[in-house]
Amino acid sequence: MTDELVSVEDHRERILSAIEPLPAFDQPLMEAFGLAAAEDVHASVDLPGFDNSAMDGYAVAHADVASAGDESPVHLPVVGEIGAGQQSLLAMSPGTAVKIMTGAPVPAGADSVVPYEWTDRGVANVVISRAPELGQHIRPRGQDVGEGDLLVHTGTVLGARQIGLLAAVGRSSVRSRPRPRVVVISTGSELREPGSSLGRDSIYDGNSFLLAAAARQAGAIAYRVGIVPDDPRAFLNALNDQLVRADLVVTSGGVSMGDYDVVKEALSPLGTVWFGGVAMQPGKPQGFGTIGEDAVPIVTLPGNPVSSYISFEQFVLPALRRLMGRTPYIRPEVDALLTQGLRSPEGRRQFARGRLTVVDGRLAVTPVGAQGSHLIGDLAESDALVVVPESVTWVEAGETVTVLPLDEEF
Ligand code: AMP
Ligand code: MG
Repeated sequence: MTDELVSVEDHRERILSAIEPLPAFDQPLMEAFGLAAAEDVHASVDLPGFDNSAMDGYAVAHADVASAGDESPVHLPVVGEIGAGQQSLLAMSPGTAVKIMTGAPVPAGADSVVPYEWTDRGVANVVISRAPELGQHIRPRGQDVGEGDLLVHTGTVLGARQIGLLAAVGRSSVRSRPRPRVVVISTGSELREPGSSLGRDSIYDGNSFLLAAAARQAGAIAYRVGIVPDDPRAFLNALNDQLVRADLVVTSGGVSMGDYDVVKEALSPLGTVWFGGVAMQPGKPQGFGTIGEDAVPIVTLPGNPVSSYISFEQFVLPALRRLMGRTPYIRPEVDALLTQGLRSPEGRRQFARGRLTVVDGRLAVTPVGAQGSHLIGDLAESDALVVVPESVTWVEAGETVTVLPLDEEF
């Protein structure tokens, strides 16, 4: 590793340019929920597909009932009945009424519907005491969606409303990119599985849970691999076992300048993985490359939990979104008022943890706790990152800062 630090953008670009979106294929609608559409979907039918009643009532010809009022009710013979899902009556003659239910097709000859409430609900004959307007209570064919309309364009994330619309126009599947499979490996001989007992020299492996959960939140399928000790052979074995099911590998730990930096030690000889420093705090030591026959991308993150998480946000999340065909790759920035002064290192972009509030109707952010990269308690309390540029070493309370809200869909 040289002392030369690369910028956050350059490292992200190194990763993004090495990753292609996963091939798209037709997936059953519910499988595609939460994924980005990989096709422009046009309606192949009109919605509604036929003129139908918006009320339970009587289908009539408007001219027959136009004069209806409390003082001048209109009497019409009821010549039939149509329920939703029934096409029991195709047409009716002037001077008659047909009982009709919500959603049922309006027969030819009728142009308006009189709701039950304006009638005596008669069976053989009906007394109508109020006139609808021409066309009232009929949902006309094509009113909502016309055949050929663009419903969903490439890149649209398919949420409940989009899935519902696609089903409503009769689509049972939609072309979309699959969820990326992410293998998460924690390295460190000091790590123990949560639920097991801990010695004075050991700590629980929080990172693989943190990273796997973050990957899942991003829409990926996360495989959390058990802890791998600081032994290059064990690490390479674990990695080789996992490659078959990985679209992306994420490791934590073992990439800095220590004596037991297993990830760096094991992968450096391959010559396909870059290791170096990125001008950020936390998260300086980073690595990225490809491994195995299929050149599976691997992002190697530092082990300190906060560094690990912020590195995920900056580098792994964009990679996952690119695999999924989703944009933008990084979270939208917002401006917020800083409520407390904040110190920041020269030459590195600081991502400080903060909590968002609203002060006098303006978005404000308060730094949470100290800024040590081991402080996972503070991380969990925060819901935003305050981004302090490389050249800035101190931000005064009351200044406007750039913030990345962490919990918002984008
Ligand atoms: P490393 O990057 O391996 O040098 O680790 C840096 C610091 O993060 C050390 O204090 C490690 O004990 C800690 N650490 C590494 N991996 C994890 C993990 N999976 N969970 C929690 N802490 C970790
Ligand atoms: Mg370590």
